[in-house]
Amino acid sequence: MLKKQCEICKREFIVANNRPKARFCSIKCKAQWQKQLPEEIRKKISNTLKNKGIKPPSRWIENPTNYSTIHKWLIKEYGKADRCENKQCNGKSKNYQYALIKGFKYERKRENFIMLCVSCHKKYDMTLKTKKQIIKNLNWYKNGKRK
Ligand SMILES: [Zn+2]
Ligand SMILES: [Zn+2]
Repeated sequence: MLKKQCEICKREFIVANNRPKARFCSIKCKAQWQKQLPEEIRKKISNTLKNKGIKPPSRWIENPTNYSTIHKWLIKEYGKADRCENKQCNGKSKNYQYALIKGFKYERKRENFIMLCVSCHKKYDMTLKTKKQIIKNLNWYKNGKRK
């Protein structure tokens, strides 16, 4: 057995002798490391995996921009979500979140997000009908007009 230090969390961990190149104590730390990689490296890894017939883990290849980074940015720039922008909202929840509008990418663009209460957010992620309804109500985003 070999004693190594995790490059991410700096904890010591033990690996089998046949894995002397191990660099991380856990899958979690490895994922953390992968997220920090520049895009070109990620693409290279992605291509290598694809050539081997392995589907790359989408959360860091296809959707590299960290979910929580964007959410932190939104809150920092625009403040916490404080209302629900779904006009059909039943008002059940007083917890509000930023939700990515369907068809948009996780980018540092406020117009890609709407504020929804937790209740509507769940529905928004789930049913097509609600989705369409909300998108319909959000046409002002497309027109660039915000009241
Ligand atoms: Zn670690
Ligand atoms: Zn709501």
